[in-house]
Amino acid sequence: MSGASHPPIRKLVIVGGGTAGWMTAAAVSRLTGAGVSVTLVESEAIGTVGVGEATIPSLHDFNAAIGIAEDEFVAATQGTFKLGIEFVDWGKAGDRYIHPFGKYGRSMFGIDFHQIWLRQHLLNDPANDPGPIDDYAIAIAAARRGRFAKPAAKADAVLSSLSYAYHLDAGLYAKYLRSYAEANGVVRIEGKIGTVEQAPESGDISAVVLEDGRRIEGEFFVDCSGFRSLLLGQTLGIPYRSWQHWLPCDSAIAIPSEHAGPPIPYTRSSAEASGWRWRIPLQHRVGNGHVFSSAHVDDETALQKLLDGLDAKSIADPRTLRFTAGRREKLWEKNCVAIGLSGGFIEPLESTSIHLIQSGIFRLMALFPDTGFNPREIDAYNHWLVEEYEHVRDFIILHYHATNRNDSDFWNHVRTMEIPDSLAEKLALWREKGRFFPAHNSLFTIESWIAVLLGQNVIPHAADPLVATLPVDETTRFMAHLRGVIAQTAEAMPAHQEFVARHCAAP
Ligand code: FAD
Repeated sequence: MSGASHPPIRKLVIVGGGTAGWMTAAAVSRLTGAGVSVTLVESEAIGTVGVGEATIPSLHDFNAAIGIAEDEFVAATQGTFKLGIEFVDWGKAGDRYIHPFGKYGRSMFGIDFHQIWLRQHLLNDPANDPGPIDDYAIAIAAARRGRFAKPAAKADAVLSSLSYAYHLDAGLYAKYLRSYAEANGVVRIEGKIGTVEQAPESGDISAVVLEDGRRIEGEFFVDCSGFRSLLLGQTLGIPYRSWQHWLPCDSAIAIPSEHAGPPIPYTRSSAEASGWRWRIPLQHRVGNGHVFSSAHVDDETALQKLLDGLDAKSIADPRTLRFTAGRREKLWEKNCVAIGLSGGFIEPLESTSIHLIQSGIFRLMALFPDTGFNPREIDAYNHWLVEEYEHVRDFIILHYHATNRNDSDFWNHVRTMEIPDSLAEKLALWREKGRFFPAHNSLFTIESWIAVLLGQNVIPHAADPLVATLPVDETTRFMAHLRGVIAQTAEAMPAHQEFVARHCAAP
C-alpha cells in the first residue's frame, strides 16, 4: 500500500485481551479522540496466559505515558515493590547475588565504579579488601533488609541511585487496564475468532470473523493473540525463529502459595538441576513457578521440585505452560503488528516480556500510520524490535553460560554450548579489563551486566589502567565511607510491608 493514495486509518482492531492486548488498548485509547475507533476482541473461553507478575523499572515510563497513579495501580493489582532479582545457586551451588535496580557506588574522576571496585578486589590485600560489590548498591542493601523507599530527587543522595519496579497480579493488571481503556472509548467484543479475512490483492487483513458469524472489519490490526499468533503467524505466515539451541527451557509449571512471612521487595530466582524456580511475592499471595527443559526433566519431577521448594501452602492447582524461546522474523507485516507473545518469547528470568510489550507499543505510537503504510517505517519498527529482542536474548543466555555448575546434563549443556557472537565478543572484552559497552538500544545497562557477570564469578583479569591514577589508601577510605552510608541509609528505610500498608494496600 502506498502512503499517498490510502485514506486515513480510522479502524484499529486489537486481537487478544491479555496483558499485551490491554496494555496496547490503554495506550492507543487516546487515538479515539482523533477519530480512530479502537476495538478489542478477546475470548474468555480461550483465556490468557495469566502469568507475568514481575516487572522492571521501565514500567514507570508506560504508567507515566498513560497517566496512571502509582498508589492506585499498586493497590488495584495487589502489587508490591521490587528492588531487583536475587539469583540463588546460579554461578555455582551455594552462590547468591542480587541484580539490583539502580546503580553501584559512585564514579571517581569519571572512572566507573565497577573499575574502582575491581582494582581494589584484585589487589588481594585484606587491608584494602572492598568486600562484595553488592554492599555498594542501595537497592541490594535495602532488599536484603526487607526495606523499601522511593528514590530521592537530590542527585547527591545515596537514595537517588535507587530504582524499583513492581510485582503484580497479571489478571488484575489486565482488568485495571481494561477499565482504563474502556473509559477512554475502546470497545471490547467477547467472542472466539474462527476465520481471518484478507484483501485479495494486497493480502492485508481486512476483517476477523467470530465463530458466531459477527464480522469485525479493520484497517490496522494489532495481534495480541498470545502464543497462537493468529494474525502474524497463522494468517500472514511470518515464520518463527527458534532460539531453543541457546535457551533450552521450553516448559513452566506455575502455582500460587500463601505467604510464609512479610513480602520481600525482590523476585527470587533459584537455579535447579534442569532450569530454575521463581518466587514473586504479592500482597495477597506468592507466585511460584519452575521453568525447565523438558528434554532434561519430566513434568512430574519438575512439579515435585517446585512443590519441595515452596515455603508455604499452595492455594491452587498447578498449571503447565509450554513455549519455545524465539521471535517471529518480523513483528510488523502489511497492516498487522504483533505485540506480546504473538511476536516472540524469552523466558521470564529477567522479567522482560512486559517491557518488550511496552517497547512495541511505544514504537507503534511513534510510527503510527495516518494515511497508509510506509515500508520504510515498517522496516524501522522491525529493525528496532528485533535488535531489542536479541539484546535481551544475549543477556539471558549469559546467566546460563557464565556458570561453574557441572552437576547435571542441563548445566553441562548450557555451560559449554556455543553462544551468539554478539555475546562472545562482549564477554571477551569484559574478561580482559572489565570493559563493557551495551548497545545503544539495549534494555540492560552496564550495571545489569556487571551484576550478573560479577555475581556469577566472571572476574576480569585486570582493571582499567586509568584506576591506577587513584591512590589505593584513599580509595579504600572512600569505599569504606560509601559502604557505611549505604548501610545506614538502608537501615533508615521503612520495612517494605509497612510502606505498602501505608501507601497502597489493596482494598
Ligand atoms: P495471552 O495472555 O495469551 O493473551 C492472548 C489473548 O488472545 C487472550 O485474551 C485470548 O483470549 C486471545 N485470543 C487468542 N486466540 C483468540 C481467538 N481465536 N479469538 C479471540 N481471542 C483470542 N512477563 C513478564 O514481564 N514478567 C514475568 O514475570 C513473566 N512471567 C512469565 C512466566 C511464564 C511461565 C510465561 C509463559 C510468561 C511469563 N511472562 C512474564 C510473559 C507474560 O506472561 C506475557 O508476556 C504477557 O502475559 C502477555 O501475554 P499476551 O497478552 O501476549 O498473551
